[in-house]
Amino acid sequence: MLKWLEDHLLQLNLVDTMNQPEGFTRLGYSNEENQSIAAFEKIAKELGLEIKRDQAGNVIARWIGASEDLPAVAVGSHLDTVVSGGGYDGTAGVLCALGAVKQLKDEGYQPTHPIEVIVFRSEESARFGISTIGSKAMAGLLDLQIGSVKDSSGISIREAVATLGFNWDEFSKAERKKEELKCFLELHIEQGTVLEENQKDYGIVDGVACPIRLKVKVFGLAGHTGTSPMNGRRDALVAVAPLISYVSETATKLSEENSTPVVATVSTMEVKPNAINVIPGYVEVGIDIRSVEDSLKKIVEQSIREKCNELERLYHVSIEIEKLVDNPSVFLDERIQKQLKKVVSEMGSSYLMMNSGAGHDVMNMAKKWPSGLIFIPCKDGLSHHPAEHASLEDMRLGVNIIAGFLKKEAGGLNEKSTSGSSRA
Ligand SMILES: [Zn+2]
Repeated sequence: MLKWLEDHLLQLNLVDTMNQPEGFTRLGYSNEENQSIAAFEKIAKELGLEIKRDQAGNVIARWIGASEDLPAVAVGSHLDTVVSGGGYDGTAGVLCALGAVKQLKDEGYQPTHPIEVIVFRSEESARFGISTIGSKAMAGLLDLQIGSVKDSSGISIREAVATLGFNWDEFSKAERKKEELKCFLELHIEQGTVLEENQKDYGIVDGVACPIRLKVKVFGLAGHTGTSPMNGRRDALVAVAPLISYVSETATKLSEENSTPVVATVSTMEVKPNAINVIPGYVEVGIDIRSVEDSLKKIVEQSIREKCNELERLYHVSIEIEKLVDNPSVFLDERIQKQLKKVVSEMGSSYLMMNSGAGHDVMNMAKKWPSGLIFIPCKDGLSHHPAEHASLEDMRLGVNIIAGFLKKEAGGLNEKSTSGSSRA
């Protein structure tokens, strides 16, 4: 299995070695993502799965069950990456799902329920600033208005998907009926150090923290840096500077005071006119606030608003705050969590219950179907980086937990062994 995982990891990543100093760049709805999906389809066909592409370009590889009228047990993740990202974020989940199918087929297992391995399109927000487009479409959560949103080269989502032969107006048809799926499971690298530090094999995720995102616009007055005296300036950058440390300090303090952590980051900044001899007349910063405890996010937001009022008065600028996103946190299905714990204990492996600070496709699937999320460790917690790494051993453990889960959820028999697994 280790050799199989290694070979197919390279195939999905379209490389000969995982040592790629520049990392992996497969943006959503790009040719690179397409090529990786083609590699997935080839592997899935070799495993005897039936391939279907939906209107949003998601790929569903189906293992025909003994009772095709039963809802499918689905497992999946994504193959797109950020710019110069790693080869495991998303890919590890897809690979382990395929590995689980291979392992079960090798055992001679025949599922009662159909089993599906799903690859979702454009999970990362790296290209369009909008994440999980494919899984939103599948779960019926897609807002077709976003079709006009453009990437940094001015190509809209609508245009990007058309280049690949998809029609944006048809994307809502990718929505699946509730009765088509029994449940959904995603495996993902942790993208943090909790599992490594605690030396656990798996993280079983309870809540997924979804962000509040704010755009803070500071209107000052541009002027000559040489001829404008210091007093009387309305420097937008100076006005917003204290906000950056304030956001960080507020989240740090709240996390210390509460059992549930909250994180907040000033992650983008635009300065205008951004010329060395001109006082910044306009600054825009983007702030991302996350916690599984929605009330903590609201406290950070409110503190930011009050701080901005204070900065307006102090620096004679005007500040507008636009709320870009406010998504409540998602809690995953308790029965699925129990099932995963059972699988882990039967294998003699170890787990930790945890929350996810990052969003994943599962948060959309969870709105419609009972869903679960498993983390496997990744080296030093590094992710969205060329040096992102998950060991083959950890991915083999990933295969084992998915295979164990599928057997329990999809029912069916092992033809080559005398004892059959329990029927679902
Ligand atoms: Zn991911």
